[in-house]
Amino acid sequence: MSQELSQQQPVWIKDPLAILAEGAERGVVVDRGRIVELVPAGAMPGISGVTVFEAGQHVILPGLINTHHHFYQTLTRALPAAMDRELFPWLQALYPVWARLTPEALDLGVTVAMAELLLSGCTTTTDHHYVFPAGLEDAVDIEVAVAKRLGMRVLLTRGSMNRSQRDGGLPPDSVVQDEDTILADSERVVAKHHERGEDAMVQIALAPCSPFSVTTSLMRATSALADKLDVRLHTHLAETEDENSFCEATLGCRPLDYLEQCGWLGRRTWLAHGIFFNAAEMQRIGKAGTSISHCACSNQILASGCCPVCEMEEAGVAIGLGVDGSASNDASNLMQEVRAAFLLQRARYGVTRVSHKDALRWATKGSAACVGRPELGEIATGKAADLALFKLDELRFSGAGDPIAALVLCGAHRADRVLVRGRWVVTDGAIPGLDLTDVIRRHSAAARKMQAG
Ligand SMILES: [Zn+2]
Repeated sequence: MSQELSQQQPVWIKDPLAILAEGAERGVVVDRGRIVELVPAGAMPGISGVTVFEAGQHVILPGLINTHHHFYQTLTRALPAAMDRELFPWLQALYPVWARLTPEALDLGVTVAMAELLLSGCTTTTDHHYVFPAGLEDAVDIEVAVAKRLGMRVLLTRGSMNRSQRDGGLPPDSVVQDEDTILADSERVVAKHHERGEDAMVQIALAPCSPFSVTTSLMRATSALADKLDVRLHTHLAETEDENSFCEATLGCRPLDYLEQCGWLGRRTWLAHGIFFNAAEMQRIGKAGTSISHCACSNQILASGCCPVCEMEEAGVAIGLGVDGSASNDASNLMQEVRAAFLLQRARYGVTRVSHKDALRWATKGSAACVGRPELGEIATGKAADLALFKLDELRFSGAGDPIAALVLCGAHRADRVLVRGRWVVTDGAIPGLDLTDVIRRHSAAARKMQAG
């Protein structure tokens, strides 16, 4: 369904209203999925035979990168039984509903999440799928199919849980799997779907839900398998103060110590949340090259706390942004997440330490570090041709001075055009070939069915 920009011919995205790049005042030339030239003020492209896309009404950003999500949770947005609860009781209210997830419902949940992300200017997304009730063994395969259908770049994680209520864990027995099943399927999905190299569109990472919903044995085996297969590792960590107390009481150490004991503290790993680390721990994370996905909306809705982003960056930790699951954020809009992170962190650190450009940097270059893809998240020669183009013709932008600041400060929420690996996947604010009315109707019906039980 994705419309080819041009596979044969370089395209000059010409004379943007503004662009988040130095020396590209007259735009960029893209060819075969990469940015091949920045065109400075007063210049023409050095490459001959370019076709032109007039971008005079567009503000251009590097495609935004979402580093944390649970797509299936779009089926349980604003669920009354889970509202106004903190993390642990919130999870306990939702697990029985999630246990009813079917392949058809997951396909719709993933389609909704990815469509919402694309339309918000997101070009690469991760997903953390960790519920595997009987019949949903092909969850990752379903997600890959949707990503290919929509033309989105993805790093999908093969999640896992193997400590259920039977073993003193939170999830019901019906949504967990045993260690052998998890590891075998992890190998299978990596072998089947993981692409390598800078042009990769589909990658796989391994991701126990949290260190406390799986056994120590599975944590260690997952890390060893990621080393063997050369793929990334992801999990939730330091999301709540409860987690520190739980870890100290049951394991006699803090969550980061436990993570390190399991062989996880290294460059392969990016962690969702990272709110409750002390100063020494931040230094250890920075030295190890582990990165953090900051989920500003989710952290505020669940009242978990506030990730100390500036101290983390000073300690050398890369910070990306994540919308997190729709049952804690309820929206999958990454541009709105940029604004939320900007507001939360500015309130914490003040006007001199956090600007709109910092928030945009977290969602692009910072997120690229989280997903281990330095070729993404930046408008520069040789980087991926993943771009988000916004128009400023809505009421909310009227009278704005700085076009790039306006995106964050006036609350941009919908891209006009989105380019992934040189292909238009959003045009005129819509996804070509995707009937959103029909998707909403079927997704709403699937959600109602799941919630009703
Ligand atoms: Zn999460």
